[in-house]
Amino acid sequence: MVKDLNLVLTPRDAAVTENLRRICAAKLSVRPDDISAVRFIRKSIDSRRSEVKVNALARVFIGQEEDECYVRTDFREVSSGRSVVIVGSGPAGLFAALSCLEHGLKPVVLERGRNVHERRVDTALLNREGRLDGESNYAFGEGGAGAFSDGKLFTRSVKRGDVGKVLSLFVQHGAQPDILSDAHPHIGSDVLPRVIENIRNTIISHGGEVHFSTKVTRLVRSGDAVTGAACDDGRVFTGPVILATGHSAHDVYRFLQHDGYALQAKEIAVGVRLEHPQDLIDRMQYHSQKGRGDYLPAASYRFVTQVGGRGVYSFCMCPGGFVIPASSSEGLLVVNGMSPSNRGSRWANSGMVVQIRLEDIGCTDELSMLRWTEEIERTCFNPLYRAPAQRMTDFMQGRASSTLASSSYIPGLLPCAMDDVLPRLVSDSLRMGLGDFVRMTRGAFLTSEATLIAPETRTSSPVRIVRGDDYCQIPGLYPCGEGAGYAGGIVSAALDGIACAQAVYRHSGV
Ligand SMILES: Cc1cc2nc3c(=O)[nH]c(=O)nc-3n(C[C@H](O)[C@H](O)[C@H](O)COP(=O)(O)OP(=O)(O)OC[C@H]3O[C@@H](n4cnc5c(N)ncnc54)[C@H](O)[C@@H]3O)c2cc1C
Repeated sequence: MVKDLNLVLTPRDAAVTENLRRICAAKLSVRPDDISAVRFIRKSIDSRRSEVKVNALARVFIGQEEDECYVRTDFREVSSGRSVVIVGSGPAGLFAALSCLEHGLKPVVLERGRNVHERRVDTALLNREGRLDGESNYAFGEGGAGAFSDGKLFTRSVKRGDVGKVLSLFVQHGAQPDILSDAHPHIGSDVLPRVIENIRNTIISHGGEVHFSTKVTRLVRSGDAVTGAACDDGRVFTGPVILATGHSAHDVYRFLQHDGYALQAKEIAVGVRLEHPQDLIDRMQYHSQKGRGDYLPAASYRFVTQVGGRGVYSFCMCPGGFVIPASSSEGLLVVNGMSPSNRGSRWANSGMVVQIRLEDIGCTDELSMLRWTEEIERTCFNPLYRAPAQRMTDFMQGRASSTLASSSYIPGLLPCAMDDVLPRLVSDSLRMGLGDFVRMTRGAFLTSEATLIAPETRTSSPVRIVRGDDYCQIPGLYPCGEGAGYAGGIVSAALDGIACAQAVYRHSGV
């Protein structure tokens, strides 16, 4: 027998299997030993009151074995199927490839960077020695920008496709099953590489291809249609092209503009990473001087406000995480955040960003916003990828920092005044926005132990690669994922990858 129960639990009861079994047994009037398994279907933490609770929907298996917790997808053998060229192996490209396998199409994935394990070495060199590999870094390489991230899988794009299927595919490839039930699921940068490698193995074992260190430098045209992609080593891969190159591939936007493809400048949000001691965020969010205790996860927050009609908000929070150098070209600095699966570091970081409209920057062409963000990244660049930083208290009072709090950012920080390295529109709006967040938390958010680290410029794509009907720009060209301006985040990029592959299938006439 299987029964679903709505439960309100203490964090301890939610975490300790025996307690959970006992509570379910009492509610169902059965003996705890009769219960073979209890699985959460939904789980969220309610920390609005001083006593933190876990709200859950639990599935209880009584006298029968637990079934598989996810819906398994079957893939077809495609070695003799029609080739689909997929440029980029981020979430958009990888999930497009999996969807091709389902439809009997042969995905040929071209990736400029190295495999996800070699990437670890390249990012370590960047962190420890300030040596950037322009093709293999936190943005480029197998798994794309999401590979060394927090792996948050929360999305509001529920209308864009089957989120449950994306999560199930992650579990099928090695992610923790609790991502299926957690209200704010995340995988973690220590688990993601294994999941990505498993996805690659699925692609190859079913007859698809994955080519690393293969940079696409041009699309191949035949009349009005795109018929393939040409690479820097002279190879040409033929087939309809799903272009899923992410928003850090500025060279891709430039060759597309040069070759006359339809692009549009896009508004974005720009600001800093703000890093706090995690302990302070735990105490603030769980209303307890003891912090999160033994059973609660590292706490997160989400803030949003308006400053002069402009959005200022927190973005991509990484509890228990690290601030990292997410640069992909020499001479440009950009920071971002990631967390391991246990979110166990001493720090919490989040983007704190300001909405920038096209009219703010005097937009003249499709790449205006891209160049504007590059200018900020150039201003913030320092040798060895040390990042400009300022104590939050100094920033709020408009004075440069001379010393800084401890930070997770390995390349090192340089004390500065954000007003000197960010456009005043950004720093002034940010100061007012942070003032609102400090008021919302009755001052708890403001501390000299918090550090602003600049710049956070790649929150979304500054360019849209225009799509016309049914995911195509012109026949054979499917702009896809975050770089095309149609997704933001791992899950929405994955959904867009699936949608583009389905469009290729519809158009293939197979
Ligand atoms: C540090 C960090 C942390 C993040 N944390 C989260 C998070 O917790 N949750 C979340 O939802 N989102 C997060 N994001 C954002 C998320 O990673 C992106 O939204 C997502 O990866 C976009 O997917 P994509 O496939 O469209 O592009 P990308 O992931 O950017 O992948 C593009 C791929 O294309 C390749 N490529 C580029 N140009 C070429 C070329 N010319 N030829 C061949 N290959 C090329 C790149 O090497 C890359 O692998 C994070 C991003 C970063 C950088």
